[in-house]
This record gives sequence, structure tokens and C-alpha cells, in this order.
Amino acid sequence: MGAQRPRVVIAGGSLGGLTAALWLRDAGCDVDVCERLSAPLEGQGAGIVLNPATVRWAVERQHIPIAEIGVAAQYLRYLDREAGVAAELVAPYRFSSYDTLYRNLLGAFGRDRYHLSEEVVAVEQDERGATARLASGRTRECDLLVWADGIRSAGRRQLVPEATAAYAGYVAWRGTVSPEDLSEPAQEALADAITYCVLPQSHLLTYQIPTAQGAQLNWLWYRNLAEGPELDAVMTDRVGARREVAVPPGAVSDGPLGEVREAASAILPPALVEVVHRTANPFLQAIFDIEVPRLAFGRTCLIGDAAFALRPHAAAGSAKAAEDGYRLGLAVREARGDVVTALERWEPPQLELARSVLARTREAGRRSQHDGTWGVGDPLPFGLYAQGDSLMAPVGAR
Ligand SMILES: Cc1cc2nc3c(=O)[nH]c(=O)nc-3n(C[C@H](O)[C@H](O)[C@H](O)COP(=O)(O)OP(=O)(O)OC[C@H]3O[C@@H](n4cnc5c(N)ncnc54)[C@H](O)[C@@H]3O)c2cc1C
Repeated sequence: MGAQRPRVVIAGGSLGGLTAALWLRDAGCDVDVCERLSAPLEGQGAGIVLNPATVRWAVERQHIPIAEIGVAAQYLRYLDREAGVAAELVAPYRFSSYDTLYRNLLGAFGRDRYHLSEEVVAVEQDERGATARLASGRTRECDLLVWADGIRSAGRRQLVPEATAAYAGYVAWRGTVSPEDLSEPAQEALADAITYCVLPQSHLLTYQIPTAQGAQLNWLWYRNLAEGPELDAVMTDRVGARREVAVPPGAVSDGPLGEVREAASAILPPALVEVVHRTANPFLQAIFDIEVPRLAFGRTCLIGDAAFALRPHAAAGSAKAAEDGYRLGLAVREARGDVVTALERWEPPQLELARSVLARTREAGRRSQHDGTWGVGDPLPFGLYAQGDSLMAPVGAR
């Protein structure tokens, strides 16, 4: 028999956690979100290619048309190394930024039940309920504990200790730059498009995103780096700390920064050399695959990056996190608040989805970073359930 109004604790208050919180609240649950950080997340800076799943709550509950979220670009453009257009297709995508999506979700959920500085470290459960253990020593009782605590999930460590992060063999250098800081020819070369440059065992892409500071060009440059001293040098920050997953803006050491700028000058087309050089604080992210054999464990579950961390090539990480949360809300509603039954029914399709998108991102990584079989003019692997479902209209030749 389910609880009348199931009490839910969500560990992690980012895109996945907040989306799950909203759908579960709509399904009649009493929801608290525990976020480890002491202030609302900001300056994540990065761009997000929109998928309908990412913004389903905004569209269905806030009645914001998807055409009004983020900014649109009409073309997929491939630049050759001399800055000429090597290929151009009509491929309408919409782009937003992490900060914009996060602010909207937090505004909708409200701050009353969003608890900062609350790190969940473990779960205990029996047939009557679950207990979230916090780093402070305090506890929160609930019927369902959802782990949405990201790529370094404490929940995954406890529930699936054998799961490990497999380094993909490359990092993504990232950054944002204001288009006004670029020359006119560079602005023109990059306008109204998601732009790719395919390089030997490497690729760079850029697209425009809305931010609190106005429109910015967001870029990602995937570069192979062998595990060991090469990777360690790049992932060691300015104060000598070896970062596991990401080196944030402002923390990247001078050596790797100088090297990436030199490499840009040597091999990128002029517009992209400007993009890299005029970015004040490039940052970087080591790319990993993480997968788990199960998502549901009685009264607790893993969603989003806490469960499967995907390489970014499908632009589907936040879409999958949001979809996990949406389907969880539906399952709890359908099981009339019986959270154990809800999790049993929710798990199989979410596992299947995660495995299929993980396979697509691995394939894209293999083609672009290793085999060199990602060709100029190829369509993008973006999509959640299938390649192409992030497109906002049919594609075609220009
Ligand atoms: C280079 C790059 C580009 C990307 N581009 C796209 C894209 O275009 N489109 C897309 O859909 N996705 C993209 N993604 C993926 C997307 O950013 C992630 O998949 C998404 O943010 C996952 O959301 P999440 O809520 O599961 O985890 P996260 O966003 O990682 O959030 C985890 C949260 O949990 C908190 N936390 C951690 N531990 C605890 C704890 N013990 N207790 C409480 N709180 C805790 C953290 O502080 C954080 O707020 C990209 C990712 C990368 C790396």
C-alpha cells in the first residue's frame, strides 16, 4: 500500500534533481531537495542544446512555447581549416545555457524546500521507509530517496560500489566569448549556425547561447590526451591540485592554457583561433563513460549523471536527467504513491534509454576522436531517444 502523500528527498539540486522535484511534486509528493553547495549554482557557463525532454516541464506546466526558450540557429556548418565553408545543411536546433535552465527550474520549485549546504552521504531503508544521512550528522526521513548528485554520486558509490568511471581518452576544452569580441569576418563565419571543424582525431564545435551577460559563443574542443602524466598535467590546477573531472574557469594552469592557445594558432581556421584566444577563462572537462546495471534499489534510485554519465556528443545528458525525473513522476502517480512498485516499473525503460544513448555517444567519440570516420557534412548524433529528436524542424540541404 502506498503512502497517501509520499515524502521524497532528492540528493542534488541541479537540472536532474530539480526537474524530478517538480514532476514528483506535481504527482502529489511532499518533496525536499538537498544540495551540497552553499549557494545556488551559478557560472556553470556552459551551453545546452535543447531537446524537448529538457524543457518539458517549462512547456507543459509553465506554458512557455519551446520556440521562446533559448536561441535558435538554422544551420549546421562545417568549416575547413582555411575558414571556408566546407559544408552547410539546414539543421534547426535551439540552444540555452545551464544557468538559464537552472534559474527557471529553481524559480519554479521555490527556495522553501531547496536546502543548501545539505550533503547527503548515505541511505538506509527498510519496509517502512528510508533515511537520508547528511554529512552534518542530521537525517531526513522519507518514503523515497532520489540520488541526482551527478557524475561523482555518493549514492552510486554506496549502491553500486563496483561501478567505475572509464576515461574516454580525451578532454573537452570549453569556454564562452562574446561575439562582439570577435572580428567581423569571424562573426560572419559563425553566425546563425552550430559550427563544426573536423580535425585529425579531434573536433571543435561552437554555437551561440543566452547568458545573464548577453549572447555568448559557447565552444568545445575535444582533444585526445593519454591517461597518465599527460592527462595529470592538464588536470592539475593553478594551486597544484589534481582535479578528477573538471578544471573550472580561472583554475586552469598556465602551461596547458598556453599549449591549447598555441595549438589553436597552428591548426584551427582563423575564426576559431579568435574564439579560443579571446576567451578569457577557458576551462576543461575530462570525458568519462559511467554505467550502472541497476537504477532502482527498493526505496531509492539513481537518475541523470548519478546513474549514467554520457559523453557530450549526443547533447543529451540533461535531457536524459530530465526524462528520468519525468518518468519517475509518472510512475509514482500511476502506482498511486506506492514508491517501491513505482521504481520497479520505472527502471527497465530508463535503463534501456540510458544504454542506447550511451552507445550512440561512444560511437560518435570513436568516429571523431579515433577512427577519423566522422566526415565533413555528416549529420550530428544529437538526440535522446534517437538521433535527430533534438531538431526543432526537418533538416535539409541549404
Ligand atoms: C562538455 C559538456 C557538454 C554538455 N552539453 C550538453 C548538452 O548540450 N545538452 C545536454 O542535454 N546535456 C549536456 N551535457 C550534460 C549535462 O550537463 C549533464 O548531463 C547534466 O547537468 C546532468 O544533470 P544532473 O542533475 O544529473 O547532475 P549535475 O548537473 O552534475 O548535478 C549534480 C548536483 O548534485 C550536487 N551534489 C553532488 N553530490 C551531492 C551530495 N552528496 N548531496 C547533495 N548534493 C550533491 C552537485 O553540487 C550538483 O548540484 C554536457 C556535459 C558536458 C560535460
